[in-house]
Amino acid sequence: MRIKKKEAIAKLDKITAIVLKRGFFWPTAEIYGGKAGFYSYGHLGKAMKQKFEQLWRSHFFSNCKNYYEIEPSSILPEQVFIASGHLEHFNDPLIECKTCHFRFRADQFIEDNLKIKAEELTTEEMSNLIRKNKLKCPKCNSWHLSEVKWFNMMFPITLGAAGVKDLAHLTPETAQASYLAFKREFEATRKKLPLGIAIIGKAFRNEISPRQLFFRLREFTQAELQIFFDPDEINKLEKEEWKEISKYRLIMLPQKEKKVKEISCEETNKKLKLPKLYVKNMVLVQKFYLEKLKIPKNMFRFRELSEKEKAFYNKIHWDIELNLETIGGFKEVAGIHYRTDHDLLGHEKHSKQNLHVFWNNKKFIPHVLELSFGVDRNIWALMDLFYKEEKERTLFSFPLTVSPIDIAVFPLVNRESMPEKAKEVYNLLKQDFSCFYDETDSIGRRYRRQDEIGTPYCITIDNQTSKDNSVTIRELNSMEQKRVKIGTLLVELKNLK
Ligand code: ATP
Repeated sequence: MRIKKKEAIAKLDKITAIVLKRGFFWPTAEIYGGKAGFYSYGHLGKAMKQKFEQLWRSHFFSNCKNYYEIEPSSILPEQVFIASGHLEHFNDPLIECKTCHFRFRADQFIEDNLKIKAEELTTEEMSNLIRKNKLKCPKCNSWHLSEVKWFNMMFPITLGAAGVKDLAHLTPETAQASYLAFKREFEATRKKLPLGIAIIGKAFRNEISPRQLFFRLREFTQAELQIFFDPDEINKLEKEEWKEISKYRLIMLPQKEKKVKEISCEETNKKLKLPKLYVKNMVLVQKFYLEKLKIPKNMFRFRELSEKEKAFYNKIHWDIELNLETIGGFKEVAGIHYRTDHDLLGHEKHSKQNLHVFWNNKKFIPHVLELSFGVDRNIWALMDLFYKEEKERTLFSFPLTVSPIDIAVFPLVNRESMPEKAKEVYNLLKQDFSCFYDETDSIGRRYRRQDEIGTPYCITIDNQTSKDNSVTIRELNSMEQKRVKIGTLLVELKNLK
């Protein structure tokens, strides 16, 4: 069921209020009025982000042979972005009001006012549409608007104090650093393909109109995995591996379709002509969302991008979209990009370093399949999807895999040695779980506070505890309680993980 715009705004306001009040995140430099596109994580947001990143690591590459994580610099010399094409192509359409000098994104302006998709239009087409429809400046209502121009989204910086311009840029994607690391890593890891290089790091984009709160930031975290492989093997997988996934059904919205369809990997490979390596990684991504993050099936889809929508370096490009009420429907949270040899070839040409490898009895430049995730966008998506309002409480029904806190421990009352016993239980659990101890206010209020931040389990020490050494475990969604002996508590809870 489609939620109405008014309700979506109300939901966004309610989530924002909780997020600010409870310490998930807030606008950076808030006491100075903040700056659009910059947010800082508080203690709960950071805990959740760390869990998401760890889950991503363990799901996508910890168990893969020859996949590694690196940590590069976030400032890279300008030559890197000349070679990658970002200096020339990494642009958004900009328009300026000639009266009040307000600058904003032309495609979003057209979409908001004319309710048509504008991402694929040229700057001339956008200028014409704006003129023909007599659109006015959203700030001062003037119709003296400039022509639409391209605006490069990278943050340029000058290095050092020498006076000579030594230009660099804050990296707009973590991917480039993996391509720069490729030669070293290939040699250090014994010259084998496929080779996976992962980075969880900062990306910076000078978004013209950062809006949608936490969704479009100017500084954000990406979790990206670049898989370097032999292009002749893109459609080859071990027989057993393919057999295991060939019947698995992917939730897809291909370009030619109007509705989402579930399509088996076999068909995806044969009819949609997606190579097996690509399909295998789609399976991995879908399982991450449905099984690890517990996203309901109807809220998830892969969407194929049109030729014009695709990033300039991608040959195959499907986005992962989640249905987010607060952001206006299905929105991109990640992408799977077949970048061919575009990047390594560009870096070989510009750096004059040989980036060819010798593998499978031939010399070639490896191709790259990229899995690219925006961590912050996914965090917001989880908040949107798991937010619930019930008669007596609001909650985030987070799964244990991403909740900021695993377990809260309470004494029922603040006397009769219950706090001492509760602290003992807290100490027992805190090595294996992120725990929170609370003895203030009524037990009902303490439960509500934990519900509001999405703590999956609350343990209460009560009158019965002194009699038989048992406690209650309360589950977030059902609010059901079960009694467990302290001696078996750790095992019981580990089984829930
Ligand atoms: P969009 O079309 O929404 O601008 P994009 O297609 O440019 O995004 P990519 O370059 O593919 O995004 O980046 C990979 C991921 O990084 C995206 O799927 C998204 O989750 C995240 N991302 C990109 N831009 C931003 C941003 N401004 N703020 C937060 N996350 C972002």
